[in-house]
Amino acid sequence: MAIIVQKYGGTSVGSIERIKFVAEKIAKRYREGNHIAVVVSAMAGETDRLIRLAQGLSESPHPREMDVLVSTGEQVTIALLAMALWDLKIPVRSLLAFQINFRTDDTHTKARILDIDADSIRRIFDAGEVAVVAGFQGITPVRDITTLGRGGSDTSAVALAAVLGAELCEIYTDVDGVYTCDPSICDLARRMDRISYDEMLELASLGAKVLQTRSVEFAKKYNVPILVKSTFSDAGGTLCTKEDTDMEKEVVSGITYDRNEAKISIIGVHDKPGIAARIFSSLSEKNINVDMIIQNMSVDGKLADLSFTVSKNDYERAMKIVRELVDELGAQDIIGNTGIAKISIVGVGMRSHAGVASKMFAALAKVGINIMMISTSEIKVSCVIDEKFIELGVRQLHETFELDKRGNSLEKS
Ligand code: ADP
Ligand code: ASP
Ligand code: MG
Repeated sequence: MAIIVQKYGGTSVGSIERIKFVAEKIAKRYREGNHIAVVVSAMAGETDRLIRLAQGLSESPHPREMDVLVSTGEQVTIALLAMALWDLKIPVRSLLAFQINFRTDDTHTKARILDIDADSIRRIFDAGEVAVVAGFQGITPVRDITTLGRGGSDTSAVALAAVLGAELCEIYTDVDGVYTCDPSICDLARRMDRISYDEMLELASLGAKVLQTRSVEFAKKYNVPILVKSTFSDAGGTLCTKEDTDMEKEVVSGITYDRNEAKISIIGVHDKPGIAARIFSSLSEKNINVDMIIQNMSVDGKLADLSFTVSKNDYERAMKIVRELVDELGAQDIIGNTGIAKISIVGVGMRSHAGVASKMFAALAKVGINIMMISTSEIKVSCVIDEKFIELGVRQLHETFELDKRGNSLEKS
């Protein structure tokens, strides 16, 4: 019998009607004679609601308690989905992380997976039951509850598929695949039939929230193909898999944006060895990830301005740390900006093409968008711009790189 791992996201289980609909889909596959493990998210909006409750109570909610709170959303949906399956006469068992020993480290709110007791799921299969597993949550070696970061149910599902040796991990969501850009802000977005792990990793880490970045890392490491499909229609789908020769080698295959960044500039620090190390080690000690960094020298060559971006969630903490360093660094000023966003182009074809970045800059300039910061890697170029220009920028780049057509290339345009 085939082992099928499916994951249903928040909108797919966002109401009782939808949970019943999902149960019918699962029942059909079960009756076809498959072993099925289903991972579910909390109902749409529920995790946000729980976070707001905590924020209404405390300025910095304790991370351990935050996990106890936000993991409850998934407990509701596994129970409801299991009830719906019982009503369809499908034997099923809802499971919380502790019941399958879904072990993680103790980095609360963004824990990393250590291992999962695959045998506990296999026993459920042997008993002829469907396993309905709470996504997003884990348990530390001392049995504290953890969560895997926003969107973490994707990673729960891929990890489960990996340990069960499933041939595929099916991710059901509210779009019918991975698009060239977020279809909710760009009408011309085109669905891709296939995408490589590396491209998907870049798209996800640069803001395309259709898959959590860590789920793609896992899939790549354990070579688990991911099929992204719509819960509500059988059409379409995108297979995320190893790069192979007949995959489209687009110069630019996707555009992403990320509103969750904030910029901090430290003006007039001494231009001498050790300054950057001092700033960034202070931030990393507090577990704050820095994304882009730029440093400019002042005209007299003695003072430098340093700007960097952090996630908006870390902005207040990062500002506090930097303010505490002002005297030590001899900095003249600190300027924070939360009204920024990052817009990026991604494509494996960039490895072998020159001129992609300049084409991006020219396209943004054409519609009057100012670029505040730039960063590049082998297969992506990112720019920090004013948040209010995100939609305009995404559409402009989509058009410039002709992503609505297959086989776009620099030569063609
Ligand atoms: P779920 O609740 O099922 O996990 P998410 O909201 O996390 O769903 O992810 C699906 C959403 O991701 C879509 O509704 C879409 O707006 C957004 N998205 C952003 N970028 C892309 C992209 N490149 N392709 C498809 N969807 C994208
Ligand atoms: N419920 C969690 C969230 O909203 C996990 C998930 O949906 O994947 O982030
Ligand atoms: Mg998601």
